[in-house]
Amino acid sequence: MKFDTKCVHAGQSPDPTTGAIIPPIYQTATYVLPEVGKDMGFDYTRSSNPTRKILEENLAMLESGKYGVTYASGMSAIDAVMKLLKAGDHVVCSEDVYGGVLRYFNQVLVTYGIKFTYVDSTDSNNVANAIRPETRLIWLETPSNPLIRITDIEAIVKIGKQASIPVGVDSTFATPMYLRPLELGADIVMHSTTKYLSGHNQIIGGALVVNDQAMYEHFKFIQKTIGAVNSPFDAWLTLLGIKTLHLRMARHSDTGMRIAQFLEAHPKVSRVSYPGLESHPQHAIAKREMSGYGGMLSFELTGGIPVGKKLMNSVKLCRLAESLGSVETMITHPATMTHADVPADERNARGLTDGLVRLSVGIEAPDEIEDDLAQALEKA
Ligand code: PLP
Repeated sequence: MKFDTKCVHAGQSPDPTTGAIIPPIYQTATYVLPEVGKDMGFDYTRSSNPTRKILEENLAMLESGKYGVTYASGMSAIDAVMKLLKAGDHVVCSEDVYGGVLRYFNQVLVTYGIKFTYVDSTDSNNVANAIRPETRLIWLETPSNPLIRITDIEAIVKIGKQASIPVGVDSTFATPMYLRPLELGADIVMHSTTKYLSGHNQIIGGALVVNDQAMYEHFKFIQKTIGAVNSPFDAWLTLLGIKTLHLRMARHSDTGMRIAQFLEAHPKVSRVSYPGLESHPQHAIAKREMSGYGGMLSFELTGGIPVGKKLMNSVKLCRLAESLGSVETMITHPATMTHADVPADERNARGLTDGLVRLSVGIEAPDEIEDDLAQALEKA
């Protein structure tokens, strides 16, 4: 199956009892056993559920992986990865990652004795130099949130393989439509399915896809033991969203490029970060490893914070909102919203300035998105 066909059909076939073309929502907590010691593949929904299982198979196929495991949120998917570690272990992590990831690592996991070194992973030497004898995981986010930096996955995989350290990639921004980390040699791919995969701001969810059976078994074990599972209804809504992933991503990407070019040419904008622009410092890597650039961009205004705030308060069509990756265009101020928990000095040291604006370009009429930004920039 080609990617577009996988979006519509992977893991799914007409329901054997009714012929229903859309998989049923198996809204049940438990399953009746035909006899002691025998089940029909399911016993309790924390462990497994038929609707969730279809989503897991669908995601595995989209990522060209063997096994998918889904969770209640992107954060609980990351938590399952971190439960591969024990006290004393060390992680090398991209420094530009979603603020909630930093909050989890720096405010929770460090208290359990897990250590983190944050590096600018756009330079693979930084990753190689940060490796210690006790390093057990390399965790990348590419394209990154919110600076939209691109990491060369193949280069980092080489480093990881040499040191026998698994490489995990948060690939939420690219989706399997544009980037498939497992094909580039990564060991784990992670998604916040809250974003493009479900695509309509309708659920919170997370997913992991791997090829290694032992890792899969670990992730299933954590899923059933901790119970941070997505509901059957949320799994079903995600499957429905994925059916149009290829169409939505193509539109997000086309309009993303148009808006990036519009902003780059605007006199009030000092810098735009969009991997499709030739001015993007890692454009060559993006061109090599990704088949499209998606709908996420960030930019900085010449007037700094007050002008950025004025812009965000003046938009009419774009929604001032925390999330991303949905059909609606959403504008975010990372310093006060998604990354508010990161201390200001740390944010600034990483280039995440107070004047930075993040835009998740939706699938509305492209000229109307542009017009809205133009009128808001006029007021700013
Ligand atoms: N990874 C990235 C790149 C994100 O942007 C987010 C949320 O914004 C997450 C992980 C966390 O996902 P969730 O909000 O589904 O827990």
